[in-house]
Amino acid sequence: MYKNMEDVMLEYKLGNKTSKNLKSILVSGKEVSRILVKAVKDFIDYTPMDFCIIENGGFRTTEMQRLLFDKGVSKCDGINNKSYHQTGLAVDLVPWINNRPSWNRENCLFLAGAFLSYCKRMKIPITSGADWNGDGNLKDGWDPCHFQIKDI
Ligand SMILES: [Zn+2]
Repeated sequence: MYKNMEDVMLEYKLGNKTSKNLKSILVSGKEVSRILVKAVKDFIDYTPMDFCIIENGGFRTTEMQRLLFDKGVSKCDGINNKSYHQTGLAVDLVPWINNRPSWNRENCLFLAGAFLSYCKRMKIPITSGADWNGDGNLKDGWDPCHFQIKDI
C-alpha cells in the first residue's frame, strides 16, 4: 500500500469563505440543499483540483441575480427567468489556481468532470452547466462552473 495520500494526489480543504458561501444555500430549508452542501464538503477529499465558491456562487437574492444578468454573466434575470441559485439549489465551483479563482474553461471542465463523477457514484442527481443535457457532449457547456441539484 502507499503510505500517504500525498503519494497519490494533493489534499485540499474547503476555505472559510467557500464554506460560508456553500452553507448560504441552506437558507432554502430544503433537504436537497443539505444534500448538495454535503456533496461539495465530501468532494473536497476526492477532487484532483482545488476549488472555491465565491460570494455569489451559492444563494442569490433577486437583486444579486439581477446584477449578474445586467453584467451579462448570467442568462437568468432573476424575475421572469429564475436561477437555481435563488432557491438554494445551485453552487458554482470555481477552480482555485495560484491562490485565486480561475474561470479558465479547461480548468472548469476538468473540475466539472470530477464533481459529476463523484455525484454519479454517490447517486446525487446533479445537472452541470458544463453539459446541461447530460449527454456527455460539452457543446452546450456554456456555464462550466455551475452545478444544480434536482428538486424533489
Ligand atoms: Zn451558477
